[in-house]
Amino acid sequence: MDLPHMSKAARIKGVDILGTGDCLYRPWLDELESNLEQVGDRYENNGVAYIIQAEVETTIGGRIHHLLFFPSLSSAYKLHDIILEGGYSRLTSGRPQLKMSPEGLVSLARGVGALIGPSHAFTPWTSMYAAFESIHDCYGTNTKHVTFLELGLSADTQMASKIAELDSCTFITCSDAHSPSPDKLGREITRFYLNRASFREIKKAFEGVNGRKIVLNVGLDPREGKYHLTGCRRCKKAYNLEDIIVEGRVLKTCSVCGGPLKIGVKDRIQLMTLKSNEVSSARRPPYIHAVPLTEILKAMKKSQRLNVKEVYEALIQQFDNEIAVLIDSPLASVKDYQPHLAEILERFREDTIDFEFVGRGGWYGKIRI
Ligand SMILES: [Zn+2]
Ligand SMILES: [Zn+2]
Repeated sequence: MDLPHMSKAARIKGVDILGTGDCLYRPWLDELESNLEQVGDRYENNGVAYIIQAEVETTIGGRIHHLLFFPSLSSAYKLHDIILEGGYSRLTSGRPQLKMSPEGLVSLARGVGALIGPSHAFTPWTSMYAAFESIHDCYGTNTKHVTFLELGLSADTQMASKIAELDSCTFITCSDAHSPSPDKLGREITRFYLNRASFREIKKAFEGVNGRKIVLNVGLDPREGKYHLTGCRRCKKAYNLEDIIVEGRVLKTCSVCGGPLKIGVKDRIQLMTLKSNEVSSARRPPYIHAVPLTEILKAMKKSQRLNVKEVYEALIQQFDNEIAVLIDSPLASVKDYQPHLAEILERFREDTIDFEFVGRGGWYGKIRI
């Protein structure tokens, strides 16, 4: 997964600006420096824009993941050196573990002009809400400097926007791709309204200034996630919130088989909003649930003969990129081309997809296509 392959994949997918990932890992940072070209106020490789970016883990107060966006390569080098010299980490991996608090990390990030926010804030492991009850408990006096939050696979805007304490945070959707293949890279995207795809403009969008903003989030349906509902790890039985609260206490074991219960993200958010007296008033852009086009084509293959690779390539040829097919092209034009695909896309765009199984207790949900 090097820059030329990422750039090629981004064009097929329809992504204009990609996060570099792992920019605090020195060998990769050096590779970025030799493969990115500075064009005006942004970096490019083969015509695709990049934002210098990394995910890191802090370990004081619990293991929590954070996303960092840097204004420049030199600011990433600066933070890299500060971390090494401060003895916070030896920086020997793509997602380094830092012996410091989230609050301390915000101070370091701000010192080099980087933006910071929690990654996959709702997952039951290594996330802000797994370790803390509130964003303030996590970032302390630096909370006001946290301008964005990554929703992650377990939550969407509809769920997260119920939490009033997040009203000043912009929600972003990202893929954390570990391969440039079209079912990984750009699986989740954030669409911005900007003058230009650059760090400076994205910063403005996070802060909501000069009309810069996010206009759309696209991501997986949280019901596909392993921890959407509260459920039993052993027998997969799902529980409603009212059934797991008995005499003010939350049940920990399954009443059917005695297996361990894992509270789902949906109920976790519900419990949080019940405790808080505030009502959210933030206006959020729409969130479209989507899955990679290749997954839809693979599902179609079960009922009709088609060569997934050939049809995918023909669709990209016809509509220019995958996001155009999934999100933007008029359904009528897809229908002329692939009537069954148009029907499926309509169900995604109108959010009327059926589920065979809604994710719970560590078991992935399964969409019925
Ligand atoms: Zn993470
Ligand atoms: Zn059970």
